[in-house]
Amino acid sequence: MAALDLPLAEARRISDLWFPQASLILRAENSLFRVHGDLLGARSSVFRDMADIAFEQSPDSGEDTVDGRNVIRLYDSAAEVQVFLRAIFDSSFFMPPPAPVDYTTVIGVMRLAHKYDVQYLFRRAISHLELLYPPSFSAFLEARDHEHKHHVRFTGDGIVDLLAIQAALEVRALWILPTAYYYLATAPDFMEVTVPDSNEQQRCLDARSKFPPATISMHRFFRTLPCSICDSAVSKCEQAIVLAQGELERWRETEDPRLLEPLSPASILDCLPENIWTRLCSPCHVAGEQEFVRAQEEFWEELPSVFGLPSRAELAKLRRHFMDDSICD
Ligand SMILES: [Zn+2]
Repeated sequence: MAALDLPLAEARRISDLWFPQASLILRAENSLFRVHGDLLGARSSVFRDMADIAFEQSPDSGEDTVDGRNVIRLYDSAAEVQVFLRAIFDSSFFMPPPAPVDYTTVIGVMRLAHKYDVQYLFRRAISHLELLYPPSFSAFLEARDHEHKHHVRFTGDGIVDLLAIQAALEVRALWILPTAYYYLATAPDFMEVTVPDSNEQQRCLDARSKFPPATISMHRFFRTLPCSICDSAVSKCEQAIVLAQGELERWRETEDPRLLEPLSPASILDCLPENIWTRLCSPCHVAGEQEFVRAQEEFWEELPSVFGLPSRAELAKLRRHFMDDSICD
């Protein structure tokens, strides 16, 4: 995992995080950072303790030193330490949403803000991640139907979703997981690659087997049609509905990949032959759409159990514990 350890003299000073007057020198892999220990300590109790220890140790105690100062070793990736320290020392680097941020920055800041107990940055990283993996059904629909995809969303890239899942598990941000797992399980490329952590791949495979029946059962809303104010002449809607139900029955026997996406937009209905769905009268169409979304919301509520996660209520409680006990900026 870690890069080959170079002698201290060959380690690279990261120029924008090397403040010559600063007191604290940190090393992560082969990168060196010199930052203001008092400022860092004000943000993080963990670093406050570290800075105290470094100050108390005599420079000739046998530890590595640079410019007569002890070097504190961090056992994190240099790339993550860089984005974490930048987020602290450059206030414009990691702004709250909707400011654009890089995906790896979000993950890196989230992990280290959690590890080093910098609450405001942790919450900020989570709020970026929640735009990618909405924890509520309304936010999910908003992102899905209005293309308000976050600027760092990599559609169809299951490996990226996998990284988010692993990081969320590490910091216990479990309420991110149902949506992240759903994206992973429906990522077109995910099942074709070999993923070292096969547990997650297996979990998605198990979930995928539940998707087609879930999608098919959502279409039970057709039974509520024609609606009470159907205005089609000569039972045109009724005929269309019979055709649709017959078609959907046939889907049970297919391997249609659309069935693997129970939460896809209503456009799945537009795939019915001869546009049966669009042949409904306007009131039936509207009523059908509402019923379809309601059926999707029921599935959404069950999504955590599909992946063996705690219930929505428990996840919401956990989120409140992390996110609501002070102002989230
Ligand atoms: Zn109608």
